[in-house]
Parts: sequence; C-alpha cells; structure tokens
Amino acid sequence: MAKRTATGTAADLIPSRPTLAAVRESAAGCKACDLWTRGTQTVFGEGRASSRVMMVGEQPGNDEDLAGRPFVGPAGKLLDRGLEAAGIDRRDVYVTNVVKHFKWEPKGKRRIHAKPNAGEIRACLPWLEAELALVKPEVVVALGATAAQALLGKSFRVSQQRGQVVSSPLARQVLATVHPSSILRSPDDETRRREMERFVEDLNVVAALLRRAAA
Ligand code: SF4
Repeated sequence: MAKRTATGTAADLIPSRPTLAAVRESAAGCKACDLWTRGTQTVFGEGRASSRVMMVGEQPGNDEDLAGRPFVGPAGKLLDRGLEAAGIDRRDVYVTNVVKHFKWEPKGKRRIHAKPNAGEIRACLPWLEAELALVKPEVVVALGATAAQALLGKSFRVSQQRGQVVSSPLARQVLATVHPSSILRSPDDETRRREMERFVEDLNVVAALLRRAAA
C-alpha cells in the first residue's frame, strides 16, 4: 500500500510552530494510517497545557469516538473516581491515548474494541510525542499494556511492573498501571473491588510524586 505520508507516520503533520491547539487541529485531519476510515473522528488529548500528570490509554472507545473526547465513557468515570480517591486534582491531569482513532470490529449491532497493531501505533505516536513535548508533565501514567509498551518498550510487563516509577526518553517519571476498562471487565464484584483498590494504590504513588515535587 502506498504511504499516506512521507514517513508513513503522523510526524509529517506536526505543525512547524506547535501549540496544543495547532496540533489538535492538524490531528483532526490525520490519515497517516487506515484507522481514520473506521473511527468517527480523531479523538485528541484533553487537559490544560500546564497539567502535571499525563494519563495515556490505548485508544478511544465507542463513547469517546462518538463524543470526540477522551475518557468520557465508563472507563473515564472510573478513572475520575480513582484520581479522587488518590487525592489527585482532576484539573492537573491531561488525558490522551497512544492511538487517536477508535479501532473496532462489528459484533451484531455493536462495535467491539480491536487492538491496534504495531504499524498503527507507530503511525500515531508522533501525536503523543507532541503532546508530551508541549505539556511536559511531571509524571506520565501508562494505562494498560499497549500504552506501557509504547512508552516503555516491548518487554515491559504491566502485570509484573505496575506501580514502579521508571524513566523513559519520553518522560522522566513514568509509571504503568492497568487500564480502567480492565477493572470494569472483572468477573465479579469482589474482584472489581480488589482491582479498584490496587488501581488507587498505583495512583497513590503518582500523588506522592506530585507532593514531593511541590515540597
Ligand atoms: S489512528 Fe492516528 S495515525 Fe492513524 S489516522 Fe488516526 S490520528 Fe492518524
């Protein structure tokens, strides 16, 4: 297939004088991979340029695709609850995804999440890199395996290394935890309660990093 951009990634579309607004506008017309044909619209990150924390998920879900905004569905609400429990001010948090279009497969009348492949992640990563460069968050939180591996390398295992603070070329302090949607998929209430507790424990590490930086 012919390359859609010279590099085959979104890198060619980053404005020469990037601001969050300019990058968002450019991303709205991105066709650097085939996912633009499947999603309703580009779902760019959201939050203040001065945000201290950046939360990075895998990709927008069904609700986010329709709304054009990240983390507005059930997983986003659970994330908000977790942040509140950890004492992290939601206004200090920028939320975004590694891949900016919703990848889905039809199942009856429903659109079911499909995992983005390595080429789609590579094509989309320049948008996240631009967001990181502009927001310069003190802490980046990778939510789930796709985000963790995009930020920290293929060998990173969320199941073994969640809650640990590591550094990456993209940010000085990075921590990975599960994606809130995985908590929603827990098989029963007790598991869901336990998983939520572990999620808040990981977010407590983020809160401690922020307190230390502000001291
Ligand atoms: S998923 Fe990313 S790279 Fe692909 S078309 Fe959408 S914004 Fe562009």
